[in-house]
Amino acid sequence: MKAAILKDIENFEIVETKIPEIKKDEVLLKVKACAICGTDIKVFHHGHKHIVFPRITGHELSGVIEEIGEEVKGFKKGDRVAVAPAVPCGECYFCRRGWQTMCDNLKAIGYHFDGGFAEYMTVPGVAIKNGCVNKIPENLDFDSASIAEPLACVINGQILSRIEPGDNVLIIGSGPIGCFHSEVAKYLGASKVILADISSKRLKLAEFTNAITVDTSKENLKDVVRNITEGRMANKVIVAAGVQNAQETSLEFVAKRGSINFFGGLPQEKPFINFNSNVVHYGEIFITGTHGSTPYHNKIAIDFIASGKINAKNYITEKMSIDKILNGLKLVEERQVLKAIINP
Ligand SMILES: [Zn+2]
Ligand SMILES: [Zn+2]
Repeated sequence: MKAAILKDIENFEIVETKIPEIKKDEVLLKVKACAICGTDIKVFHHGHKHIVFPRITGHELSGVIEEIGEEVKGFKKGDRVAVAPAVPCGECYFCRRGWQTMCDNLKAIGYHFDGGFAEYMTVPGVAIKNGCVNKIPENLDFDSASIAEPLACVINGQILSRIEPGDNVLIIGSGPIGCFHSEVAKYLGASKVILADISSKRLKLAEFTNAITVDTSKENLKDVVRNITEGRMANKVIVAAGVQNAQETSLEFVAKRGSINFFGGLPQEKPFINFNSNVVHYGEIFITGTHGSTPYHNKIAIDFIASGKINAKNYITEKMSIDKILNGLKLVEERQVLKAIINP
């Protein structure tokens, strides 16, 4: 099979290699689509603490079950599926409380296990057992299904941000994650959704969301939010950008009793920020972070896409074969596209 193996930092090798053999509790998946994620770019440049090279990365994926281990129940050859890449153990304190994103033993496809930038991959037994393999409806194509994972992370974020009907929601960062946040917030009943970005090029790609877009290189975001919200500011602020300054200034845009979600993580070497704690104290502001998604969030995400609430075609603006993976990474990194898909 053909695979893009990350041999080391910034060193992808496209190789012919043998199709992996499955154990009794695993399935073999023929990968049909694997979307490139922002973290694939981080991993390409900097590696990752959970990745030992060589590794086949790629974690936003869908495919067809090609072979099944004898102990696997509930699936058959030919099933069309999307795989939730974050694999909880199902047994620790946090899993038992239903907070699988906080699993003490969390493993991930594309990190601890080989992922989807290959023609075939094995789905580990622990992933199957914990509900990570979701069948997709007939009307849903593989490309669209592959972007369920980032959408699932957004759904987790929206739940933790407690978006309610009538909320005015500000989203900072208009990449694919910011676009998902805009659309999901509207479905949850948000009155006004404001999508801010420092790049007019990126905002242009986000126009389909019908959010009120604000180019912060030209406009004063605080003034705009104040005007739109009759002076109250945004009930919910989601910082969909891993940038210190964006997190710090988010407190300027939040309404009393509002919430802020630090959705994007900061660089490991610079994780600290400064803000006026009294804004939080006197304004009774809730601050949360969000990290990842559970198998259940992935199921909801598939439903959002299959039912047309999210039109995946608006996000997938580039498709390519596995040989072009470097090109795909570049397009995503330079933010020329929202999502680029590898069809192995
Ligand atoms: Zn991802
Ligand atoms: Zn666990």
